Amino acid sequence: MFTPIAGRAVVVTGGTRGIGKGIAAVFAGAGARVLVTGRDEAAARTAADEVGAAGYMAADVSRKADCEKVAAAAAERLGGLDVLCANAGVFPSARLGDLAEDDIDRVLGVNLKGTILTVQACLPLLRASGHGRVILTSSITGPVTGYPGWTHYGASKAGQLGFMRTAAIELARDGITVNAVLPGNIMTEGLAGLGDDYVNGMTAAIPMRRLGTVEEIGHTVLFLATDEAGYITGQTIVVDGGQTLPESPEAVS
Ligand code: NAP
Repeated sequence: MFTPIAGRAVVVTGGTRGIGKGIAAVFAGAGARVLVTGRDEAAARTAADEVGAAGYMAADVSRKADCEKVAAAAAERLGGLDVLCANAGVFPSARLGDLAEDDIDRVLGVNLKGTILTVQACLPLLRASGHGRVILTSSITGPVTGYPGWTHYGASKAGQLGFMRTAAIELARDGITVNAVLPGNIMTEGLAGLGDDYVNGMTAAIPMRRLGTVEEIGHTVLFLATDEAGYITGQTIVVDGGQTLPESPEAVS
């Protein structure tokens, strides 16, 4: 039996839809007080209402000032911060030969720099918590696998893990753990936008023959936020229905 996390203060970046909304729903369902963020304030308000979050706000993780505003809002509205879910991310596709400098800047700016800025801004609150938890949403793409069109994305997601390992060491004495969840293919609004061919191709490559749900990621994040996971830091958990296991297409046929 895990110690309840009811009442804990939680921030979920990119919580307005998809995986972030699923994480927010799982934490709110467990009685935590959740602040949902995203760039679209109306979407954040709707998501917060739907999942029973304590609050919402518009913030762009690629902007330092916005990350500081999120930390200030957590202090003001939640009275502090125990769990930071750095989830916001983008995954536009472009082959290496066509990749524009702006594409690289945007993907690294949101996914990698945004992760660092978010954690940095929340550090004082996480230290004050006494049991601070940082859970990053990385990906199998980059750390474990590759996929055409995602050189920049894969680099950003692998880069999050490089950040995580040193942050975990630096913050260990503050009682803060820093871990990452690596989702496989999870059915979200963002992923649906990649089209039916992508979704069908991925489904065929997954031994469980289905995409994951946002709640399955949410529950993994919730586990990493528990007191009982307090000795786990700098680690990754792959949640992919076995997608990264097959050695060949025949292994899943
Ligand atoms: P999604 O449905 O497109 O949702 C992305 C969320 O991030 C939205 O709430 C979006 O809200 C927010 N966001 C985007 N840019 C932002 C920014 N600059 N500042 C703040 N918030 C921002 O995507 P998803 O599929 O749920 O993916 C969520 C995370 O999981 C990403 O880090 C992604 O790389 C990772 N992931 C997803 C999958 C998958 O299969 N779906 C697999 C592996 C990893 P706004 O647009 O309003 O800002």
